[in-house]
Amino acid sequence: MIPYVRDLDFEYGRADQVSPLIRRVIARNPGPFTYLGTGTYIIGHGEVAVIDPGPALAEHLDAILAAVAGERVTAILLTHHHSDHSPLAGPLKARTRAPVYGCPLAAPVADDPSAVRMEADHDQAFAPDFELCAGGRIAGPDWTLEAIPTPGHTSNHISYALEEENALFTGDHIMGWSTTIIAPPDGDMTAYMASLERVRAGGYATLWPTHGPPVRDVAPFLDAYVAHRLERQAQILRALETAPARIPDLVPQLYADVDPRLHPAAARSMLAAMIDLVRRGLVRTEGDPGPASEYRLG
Ligand SMILES: [Zn+2]
Repeated sequence: MIPYVRDLDFEYGRADQVSPLIRRVIARNPGPFTYLGTGTYIIGHGEVAVIDPGPALAEHLDAILAAVAGERVTAILLTHHHSDHSPLAGPLKARTRAPVYGCPLAAPVADDPSAVRMEADHDQAFAPDFELCAGGRIAGPDWTLEAIPTPGHTSNHISYALEEENALFTGDHIMGWSTTIIAPPDGDMTAYMASLERVRAGGYATLWPTHGPPVRDVAPFLDAYVAHRLERQAQILRALETAPARIPDLVPQLYADVDPRLHPAAARSMLAAMIDLVRRGLVRTEGDPGPASEYRLG
């Protein structure tokens, strides 16, 4: 079982000092994919960085600007291009003149062909001024942030390490309240598992997801997070031992314990797992693995 962390004392729009160098303001966009809402992090004092300004909500922009009144925003950092993370980057840049950092998409992401309603709406205006796809370091007077590429949830996902606190802002890569949606074609399970290992190897003391409270017991949490994915793969392989099957038949069976509203998203995650299993030769299918393909053991 993943030792989820879900308790959080907060008010929408209030800036809370959550560590010596970190403040957090939560946007009023709760939902099945965003939990309580988007947590925007403000790093440092006086000259500050803002990580994931959040969704296009005027009251959230006002809350961020109120939190940094009398200070200067010197960097706006984006973990990825989803509409609950990046759309306020443009308006915040217009008000602060701070440059925007992140990893642009290599190619535009087409709308989901299966028309599944995901948190993963794509922010089509996503256009960082500076590219961190291969990493990079940004610093202020009392903080240093290193970009750690963590593709998987999206192809362009970046986590940010705060060196002074041995902490990592994990965006949607690792969330304390939930597992992460991996939705192909932009989401990729093979990359995701490699990115989990990268975080595990980093030895961080605290993980700060964009949604929900921090993960402070990092090693056991990551062990369980990885084990959960491996168990999902094992479940698929066990189910296919009986007979070939399609994803729409497997999801209700393997995700019986999951909110049915999330089953369409679970089907996308299962597709991501199938693509990974096909790449590794453990599962076979005719042609490219797709949402309606029939799968059998390899
Ligand atoms: Zn996302």
